[in-house]
Amino acid sequence: MQYSEIMVRYGELSTKGKNRMRFINKLKQNMKHVLSIYPDVTVQADRDRAHVYLNGTDYQPVAESLKQIFGIQAFSPSYKVEKTVPAIKKAVQDLMTSIYQDGMTFKITGKRSDHTFELDSRELNQVMGNAVFDVLPQIKAQMKQPDVNLKIEIRDEAAYLSYENIKGAGGLPVGTAGRGMLMLSGGIDSPVAGYLALKRGVDIEAVHFASPPYTSPGALKKAQDLTRKLTKFGGNIQFIEVPFTEIQEEIKEKAPEAYLMTLTRRFMMRITDRIREERRGLVIINGESLGQVASQTLESMQAINAVTTTPVIRPVVTMDKLEIIDIAQKIDTFDISIQPFEDCCTIFAPDRPKTNPKIKNVEQYEARLDVEGLVERAVAGIIITEITPQADNDALDDLIDDLL
Ligand code: ATP
Ligand code: MG
Repeated sequence: MQYSEIMVRYGELSTKGKNRMRFINKLKQNMKHVLSIYPDVTVQADRDRAHVYLNGTDYQPVAESLKQIFGIQAFSPSYKVEKTVPAIKKAVQDLMTSIYQDGMTFKITGKRSDHTFELDSRELNQVMGNAVFDVLPQIKAQMKQPDVNLKIEIRDEAAYLSYENIKGAGGLPVGTAGRGMLMLSGGIDSPVAGYLALKRGVDIEAVHFASPPYTSPGALKKAQDLTRKLTKFGGNIQFIEVPFTEIQEEIKEKAPEAYLMTLTRRFMMRITDRIREERRGLVIINGESLGQVASQTLESMQAINAVTTTPVIRPVVTMDKLEIIDIAQKIDTFDISIQPFEDCCTIFAPDRPKTNPKIKNVEQYEARLDVEGLVERAVAGIIITEITPQADNDALDDLIDDLL
């Protein structure tokens, strides 16, 4: 027997009252994006649950994709069966025989949504329970916590059988919390920060600063590949490349070495904030982790953050590096993050950046620069691409192309 559809139960959104349909529509859209890598799969979402129709597609990979999508509490693969008593009986017997193991207990939970069907729910339980005993006389029925709870649902178009309940990712559907700009480097931390923001429903757009020719096309591709990894949790993500060369050269020329990093970060923050405003984002998200590097002392954070009043969310701020790496491995970004392409900040990094920059000094050095002009030119030069999910075998093909 081959699964025909997957029944999806919603997570936290069930409790959200009148926003319910908005949540459901977002989740449906996200599921469509994520599952777009399976061309034959279709998605339908009702008030109570969603249905993923496999239309002949292998169940396993689709289930793996579903497990990642935020806003799904659980799902059950189902068999579609013709809506007649003999057909359902046979399907129940085939299914139970194929999964039976010694000592197994079971129960049948019938549900008649189509009230014209000849058996009501209670009769359905009885008739189908007896059908199981006909082929497996040794099996035991058990009403409380049976090993197998076989659900039979009679709907208008057909009957459906299911017995597995697979846990989903939980969280909130991406996009239900509003938009945030993720400052995405090629490092380990910012993709993890992005993942954690997605988990709570933030629709992230990735802002990446590139300084060609100091940074390579490889560094850019790395940031895009990381973004693509993040699409499996909620669908397409806008990737915004910011030209940063002019600014880095200006700072390098006009500011003292010890302040390069602080000034650079303040420009990144200003530009991200400008882009956020234009694209109607509500917050900025970054991968700062307290004490990890010079830019991440509390003094530095304060000096960098001083250019905006926009909330800056730092999902990994109190995590140890190993905790962050654990998540990076779980979400499959780690191997990309450790590819050796230099980031714009590494290249211009001073040997000894100031760990306690003074705002007074910072402002004095910035007075030497045309801050507004530099920011405006960078924002005018952004390049936006939509990053979509990619099937694993496509990714493999890409990798082979890269190697050849
Ligand atoms: P990551 O692993 O995310 O690179 P990190 O520990 O290396 O973080 P930094 O390099 O100091 O720390 O960067 C701190 C944060 O600044 C990053 O997490 C990211 O949010 C942002 N950032 C740094 N470089 C860039 C860049 N080139 N483009 C966009 N954001 C950046
Ligand atoms: Mg970094």
